[in-house]
Amino acid sequence: MLITCEHGGNTIPARYARLFHGTQKILKSHRGHDIGALNLARYLARHLRAPLHYSTVSRLLVDLNRSPHHRQLFSSQTRVLDRASRAAVLALYYSPYRSAVEKRIVQIIARGHSVVHVSAHSFTPVFNGKTRMADIGLLYDPARRSERLFCTRFQNALSDFAPTLRVRKNYPYKGTADGFATYLRKIFSGTHYAGIELEVNQRLFLDAKLDCGRIRLNILRALTTTFG
Ligand SMILES: [Zn+2]
Repeated sequence: MLITCEHGGNTIPARYARLFHGTQKILKSHRGHDIGALNLARYLARHLRAPLHYSTVSRLLVDLNRSPHHRQLFSSQTRVLDRASRAAVLALYYSPYRSAVEKRIVQIIARGHSVVHVSAHSFTPVFNGKTRMADIGLLYDPARRSERLFCTRFQNALSDFAPTLRVRKNYPYKGTADGFATYLRKIFSGTHYAGIELEVNQRLFLDAKLDCGRIRLNILRALTTTFG
């Protein structure tokens, strides 16, 4: 298992701070980072003894979960940079992360194993005025047997450990939409690589009435069962 977290933080490197004047509120919101996702990723990696790759640079500088030519690779703050500056952002903050994960997968496969990549994300409970109707989303490519089986088992295990959690597949996004796992599927076959995006509703991390430690534990238990 390999754990990653592309939207783990909302740091803006000093040299780009001028582009983000007056955007503190946005940076702190779900638009700047995936609230709670890095905590979850660290917790899972530690307990599963899985390698972890994460970034704490805000997705508003450059989105590590978008392909190089995607129109949302850069945000409205960074799209104004000239071509050379954008290339510098990619060279410093995008390519090293994406290549390190890719290399890690190559290494695991070279040792004769297959890889289950769990990419930890979180989503805002209300988007464009609409309440999202799930607590956890499992994003995968339905055309890939290994991903389909993994997510079915994972969903069943989650309903055993946490029956009150509403778990949906390919919600609130489709696993085949642009994303890091979608890119990696083009490089690695379904025999060697299964890419799952684990999307957690930020409500589970922000609502003081909920026990987020327990939720993390149940996700860990369900993942462990899925593997066993
Ligand atoms: Zn995310």
